[in-house]
Amino acid sequence: MRELRYDTVLFDLDHTLLDSDASHAAAFDATMSSIGIDDPSSVFEVFDRINQALWRRVERHELSPNEVKALRFRQFLDEMGLDGDPTEMGAVFVDGLTQNGELYPGAQELVEQLAGLVALGMVTNGIGRVQRDRLARLGIADCFHAVIISGEVGTNKPGAEIFDLTFEALGIAERSRAVMIGDNLGSDIQGGINAGIETIWFNPTGSVNSTGIQPTHEVTTLDELPSLLA
Ligand SMILES: [Mg+2]
Repeated sequence: MRELRYDTVLFDLDHTLLDSDASHAAAFDATMSSIGIDDPSSVFEVFDRINQALWRRVERHELSPNEVKALRFRQFLDEMGLDGDPTEMGAVFVDGLTQNGELYPGAQELVEQLAGLVALGMVTNGIGRVQRDRLARLGIADCFHAVIISGEVGTNKPGAEIFDLTFEALGIAERSRAVMIGDNLGSDIQGGINAGIETIWFNPTGSVNSTGIQPTHEVTTLDELPSLLA
């Protein structure tokens, strides 16, 4: 990977480098057992729908990431007609998110290799403590020259401002050889477009893009990235 096409590479974390589905499932199981639900898979769909809808509201600046923590469980308990303390459940869930979920195969080697070749940044929509503790646990925190988390900076993808903060933290003024890599068209790819940089859509499930948001490149595995970046 010498002579790279890009000198600045920005990554999303969830569902791009990290198996966030496994992280979510384990966190949800722990949270449900804290309120005595033995078969969490039967109610996961309800939670997942609520959680995803709340994160879309974060993208639209209607909520902050920190507000999602308890609100997702308040809405879940209401919809299911269950008793529980949404704040406590939120804390159990956040612990579960932090402690569970592994990097996708090849992700660690990829970021370790890139760290020596480019300005490597992470731009993630999420809760500061969760994302920082995950990166530390996974052993890749030091690979990134800047880690910008929406919950810490108060602005999120796809807004251009979080990218401005990332370039500032990286000390990079020229963006013509920068690329954003992520799985989410609405936040990562639209965000990269808003920031005026190239984008790579990580699309491991081969989803059809009917959004009208056009990535510069598309890959279905992380293995494709070294040759695309080179
Ligand atoms: Mg993602």
